[in-house]
Amino acid sequence: MAYKVTFIPGDGIGPEVAEAAKVCVDATGVKIDWETHKAGEEAIADFGTPLPDALLESIRRNKVALKGPITTPIGKGFRSVNVALRQALDLYACVRPCRLYPGIPSHYDKVDLVIVRENSEDLYAGIEYDDGTSEVKELIDWVKSHGGKSIQSDAAISLKPISASATERVVRFAFEYALKNGRKRVTAVHKANIMKFSDGLFLETAQRVAERYAGKVEFEDRLVDNMCMQLVQRPENYDILVLPNLYGDILSDLAAGLVGGLGVAPGANVGDKAAVFEPVHGSAPKYAGLNKVNPMATILSGALMLRHLGETSAASRLEQAVADVVKEGRDVTYDLKPHKDDPTSVGTKEMAAAIARRLKKG
Ligand code: NAD
Repeated sequence: MAYKVTFIPGDGIGPEVAEAAKVCVDATGVKIDWETHKAGEEAIADFGTPLPDALLESIRRNKVALKGPITTPIGKGFRSVNVALRQALDLYACVRPCRLYPGIPSHYDKVDLVIVRENSEDLYAGIEYDDGTSEVKELIDWVKSHGGKSIQSDAAISLKPISASATERVVRFAFEYALKNGRKRVTAVHKANIMKFSDGLFLETAQRVAERYAGKVEFEDRLVDNMCMQLVQRPENYDILVLPNLYGDILSDLAAGLVGGLGVAPGANVGDKAAVFEPVHGSAPKYAGLNKVNPMATILSGALMLRHLGETSAASRLEQAVADVVKEGRDVTYDLKPHKDDPTSVGTKEMAAAIARRLKKG
């Protein structure tokens, strides 16, 4: 029986990379019934909202979605559909494997990291008070009267909630991921020496969860600033990193840089009831419709989706087909050539077709 999967092409370069991923997932031979849904700017015309209920219902029903990136207007306009989707479906763990494939231009020989980022709280909770408002003034007065610290009167304030419950579930997710995927060690990343309560609670909770996995998966912790330096100097020493939302966002891009850039970094947003698979990169509007960008990040997100569905052999074959095409270096997009203006680079569609051919050849 075919799996039902919600398919969200997105906008900008989204439709091109999402279609490329669909072609490659289909080429594995796993039967998928794709249910296509619009989101973002183009959904507003039809549904009056960038995140239609029909789309959310489709994901709730199917439990799995493959998604292209969606543009968030800067300043005015609607808030991020990507963040709203994760909140609406409680997709609390953002998983971003960063593996260096032979053939990709990089400063490193071996990188094979998985970033597990908490997706629901921290400074991304969206609790902010603008400068000059009565709320911020009240907050500044409250802080002064509860501990005596003064905040400049012209400040804006963002709150950083970190809870034991949200930390516990994401750290548990990281350990379970380690067990399922044969990984050896989880490193919790924090700044608990400075933020003793919020990051302190993250660390304490991580240590408590780690005890349950003693003897099965190793555990250690690192300060986030030191972690950045360690990743640049010795990325091969790390395995799975689990981090609060903001550090996870920043270190995901750092780790993508270690393995060849945004064009190659896949991702998944996972909750207890649904999972949405999408590349780390955004909609890169300046490349939209040019059949130019790298589809690899979205194709590898498709492989993560297959593994999540239990189709582990198809997932491994897809990853191997990507690895073969990249290693060969012929049918790859401009960003994977030694020089970006290499006239032999191929388009998005052609790279996906080469990967699909490789799969069909077996
Ligand atoms: P971006 O990731 O879209 O692009 C930044 C640069 O990275 C591009 O100009 C390009 O040089 C490179 N790049 C990105 N994808 C590539 C690919 N597949 N192949 C080769 N090179 C690639 O980041 P941005 O410009 O900051 O964001 C553009 C829009 O995307 C914004 O509206 C942002 O909000 C949105 N966004 C969406 C998501 C999502 O849907 N999950 C994630 C990030 C950003």
